[in-house]
Amino acid sequence: MNAQHFEMMKDLINPNYALQAEQARNSRGKLISNLLSQRCLPDEGWDDASIKMFLEEMSTFDTNNFMGNVGVGEREGRVISAMVRERHFGLTHGIGRSGDVMAEQPKAAGSSLLVQLTRYLALDAIRLSGIKAAKACCVLPCATGLTMTLVMLALRQQRPTGKYVVWSRIDQKSCFKAFGAAGLQTVVVELKPLEGSDALGTDVDGIRAAIERLGPENVLCIATTTSTFAPRVPDSIDEVARLAKELDVPHVVNNAYGLQCTKCTHLIETGCRTGRVDAFVQSTDKNFLVPVGGAIVAAPDKGLIDKISEIYPGRASMSPLLDLFITLLSLGKKGWKGLLQERKDNAAWFQERLNASAEKQGLRLLRVPANKISFAIDLTPLAETAQAKGDIDHLTFLGSALFTRRVSGPRVVLCVQPSSPSPEESDAGAAEGSAMVETSVKVQGKFKKTIDGTPFQSYGAHADTYSCCYLTAACALGATREELEKFLSILDDALKDYRGGAGRKEKGKDKGKDKGKESIGDKVKEKEQATADVQ
Ligand SMILES: *Cc1c(COP(=O)(O)O)cnc(C)c1O
Repeated sequence: MNAQHFEMMKDLINPNYALQAEQARNSRGKLISNLLSQRCLPDEGWDDASIKMFLEEMSTFDTNNFMGNVGVGEREGRVISAMVRERHFGLTHGIGRSGDVMAEQPKAAGSSLLVQLTRYLALDAIRLSGIKAAKACCVLPCATGLTMTLVMLALRQQRPTGKYVVWSRIDQKSCFKAFGAAGLQTVVVELKPLEGSDALGTDVDGIRAAIERLGPENVLCIATTTSTFAPRVPDSIDEVARLAKELDVPHVVNNAYGLQCTKCTHLIETGCRTGRVDAFVQSTDKNFLVPVGGAIVAAPDKGLIDKISEIYPGRASMSPLLDLFITLLSLGKKGWKGLLQERKDNAAWFQERLNASAEKQGLRLLRVPANKISFAIDLTPLAETAQAKGDIDHLTFLGSALFTRRVSGPRVVLCVQPSSPSPEESDAGAAEGSAMVETSVKVQGKFKKTIDGTPFQSYGAHADTYSCCYLTAACALGATREELEKFLSILDDALKDYRGGAGRKEKGKDKGKDKGKESIGDKVKEKEQATADVQ
């Protein structure tokens, strides 16, 4: 209704009521004015009714919803199911044009406006999380892995001689597969143990050596990752960025769930300011609590972002953008900052509690101070018992025990221990040293996984060898204290069961039915993998 309508309304009902109605209408209108003029998150989140009204109005600006529209094209945004139409607020044209996924769609002014607003809101959220150097972004309706592939393809057009990606190892399959999907060859740079802790971190010299060996012009980019499972820590984005600048090689950061952690955002910010970061990619679901399906590519410079949008063939789904738009509007600055703060507080609390739980069970947390999201418990005492019984695989039962108790997310990581204990390890516990050596000999190659033709030893551990087997758990955005508390109590139960021999008995039973220990072990591992993939 416009001002004239409210005037007319005064002839029909008490003019005071009409005036009130007009004021109510105007306060909602003011929200929209602010959004369109300021193009950033509102201080306070919008209420659902305001968001809904706005979306419904936007929807009427798309041709499929024009009154009396006659469509004689092949794609007219027709939807047969009313339920499906409602699910999308009638925004059925998708986004983009055949030549550019971020371009305006002539048949859909409303959708086109929403795409641009979503980009502004996402950029503001990224900046609020700590990356002020972010100057442009695009929101794509593909998850992180495929989005990384698109970034690679766009870079490739700009740097045709680049065939190799020099990549700091992280054992998350889609990270690696993203490069192969772009037709690139990945050169894996192993991590190195960081002194004075149990952490695995970036081997910056190793990255330099790889680039110099391959020839900088043949390297498409360096790829690093911020968000990761402990005991791996965020890559040294700052140092790698300086190296990238020095060697004139592009640098792409996988920041999958890094927006929720100031450690990660600070690294990217510093990288952008003091070195070279061409783009960084983050998942919409992991950072903004929407269904899986989208990712944001952000950069300190608009050029590559435009290139990525251009490389996308055809139109795309609006849904992941719409989910993000609704969520960001309803959170507002206050809600978004609140979520970030809540996670930070929860993580500190959880680490303390997990540490206490571990100690109660005669276990310890690995010292990984730079990882503020994921935590790992050293399972050495349990591994030794399992090893003594000749059944290291039994450890994975812990993961299944948690999974069957409806805990999703934790992973039990079995790995090959270094065959000659490094000096730090001898310091840590010389007594266990020799037992561990035996383990490593026995299980050499056992935890190997080949992905797209590239073999990885101790896959899951981010390194060919690591000093112990461990269990990881994360305190990610949106986790509540209630569920974290529950996890601690279930973990306690699972550890007791494990020590009581549960799973071992199960295995004994299965032994008759199945061929051998190996295959059962593999099955348990498969189940474990399923748990890992939940993340
Ligand atoms: C989750 C995650 C991915 C994969 O993301 P998808 O959205 O499933 O493609 C890639 N890398 C890292 C570091 C992740 O955490």
